[in-house]
Amino acid sequence: MLTDSSSDRCTTNLSLISPKIEGLRQTFAAGHTKNIEWRIAQLQRIKKLVAEKQEPILLALQKDLGRCDMESWTAELGGVISEVEHTVKHLKKWMKPRKVSTPIAAQPGKSYVLPEPLGTVLIIGAWNYPLLLVLGPLIAAISAGNCALIKPSELSPNISGLLAEQIPKYLDQLAVEVVEGAVDETSELLQNQFDHIIYTGGEVVGKIVMRAAAEFLTPVTLELGGKSPCIVDSNTDLEVTASRIVWSKFMNAGQTCVAPDYVLVEKSFAPKLIDAIKVKIAEFYTAKVSASDDYGRIVNARHFARIVNYLDGQNVVYGGESDESTKYIQPTIVLEPAEDSPLMEQEIFGPVLPIITLDNIEQAVPFVSKRAKPLSLYLYTKNKTFEQTVLQQTSAGMVGINDGFMFALNPNLPFGGVGASGMGAYHGKIGFDNFSHLKTVMKRSFWFDVPLRYPPFTSKKFKILKKLL
Ligand code: NAD
Repeated sequence: MLTDSSSDRCTTNLSLISPKIEGLRQTFAAGHTKNIEWRIAQLQRIKKLVAEKQEPILLALQKDLGRCDMESWTAELGGVISEVEHTVKHLKKWMKPRKVSTPIAAQPGKSYVLPEPLGTVLIIGAWNYPLLLVLGPLIAAISAGNCALIKPSELSPNISGLLAEQIPKYLDQLAVEVVEGAVDETSELLQNQFDHIIYTGGEVVGKIVMRAAAEFLTPVTLELGGKSPCIVDSNTDLEVTASRIVWSKFMNAGQTCVAPDYVLVEKSFAPKLIDAIKVKIAEFYTAKVSASDDYGRIVNARHFARIVNYLDGQNVVYGGESDESTKYIQPTIVLEPAEDSPLMEQEIFGPVLPIITLDNIEQAVPFVSKRAKPLSLYLYTKNKTFEQTVLQQTSAGMVGINDGFMFALNPNLPFGGVGASGMGAYHGKIGFDNFSHLKTVMKRSFWFDVPLRYPPFTSKKFKILKKLL
């Protein structure tokens, strides 16, 4: 057996890794991944895999994350299917040479940008949306005509095992490989040369990936996380705001890279907002959240302990219950955590929502902008001037105004961070471009060869050139 995935650990024999990569290189060199027919066929096969294996996938997600089917379908399977459909619909247009104008100095001539595949792409996935976070980048990599090697997260072993088993059955085995494993396997992978690496996960490993990529001057896309702020103006629709905050924060038990990490709100408005959030939690997950089938669990004991420890010494105004045996943590609200507490210094990545009050909502802008640039920023307001102030004076990978991460559903918008929350982006055409080299082409005519630029240089030539360029 090439891979041996168990519920505790997925592994790959390290000696098999380099030959797999070499095989992918040979496939790319053979050229057939460049054909649009091959790309579309592979994309359709990804959709077929997800549609035909829907039941085992939902079961694997249930086992890995205790997630209900509807949440898994909308957040992962549905996302993969719609990304394939969007890509297949537009791929021919994206692959075409992109004509641009040519300056007078280069006339007669034609200029265009020709997207070309990069080669072999390494996709390192995270565990929180373990299907989407490998198949999403795979769709982009294949659409651009690349070969790909997928390394799913070992912390979601059921999905990792399922992908390792099913991908070779559905996709071109010569062009797409799966390597299961953890640190050893990823470290071994990173010893090898790829033409692009996309990594989804935390900042510490992001740096390891980038350092390894630097050895080969391999470009990287880093899909990282960070503390995504949620600014709530008192001039908002309270009920809708509370619904959308609860939906985006507590989906997948808060283990979402674009979940609102903490809320900034005016002191006088905070009690109303907290009450509205409590009402929505009970409405969505019933008064006894632990019994709700719609609420997920924490991925493993280490993350469970990490999140529970964040609550030490905090002013918990709602929730706070947990059960180690089932890795359940109740949706929890903490009021006024100290800025230097671990809760406010680390990305929470769990169902704990700190509320920080301000005398004036405008103070949210310096609060956010003095911190690391987050993956996403949320703003709930009816005040257009404040909306513009926040947009212009803060930086974030993505911004949701008056909603949570609905932007992730729009394939026309780039999905990615900035600064500490990452670099590069994918989804739709942006993903296609991310995994392509946008090759510059200028074609000149042999006719009309103006000798102006050729030596010997004269002051007259220089004068004319200055005007032309
Ligand atoms: P993780 O533990 O699953 O790690 C991610 C990948 O890195 C895995 O494939 C793992 O095998 C590999 N890895 C771990 N340690 C390694 C090492 N020492 N050397 C080489 N590879 C190693 O995921 P995580 O880091 O817990 O993910 C959570 C973080 O990911 C959060 O910060 C979250 O915000 C972020 N995230 C970002 C996005 C996004 O799209 N921007 C999506 C999901 C999660």
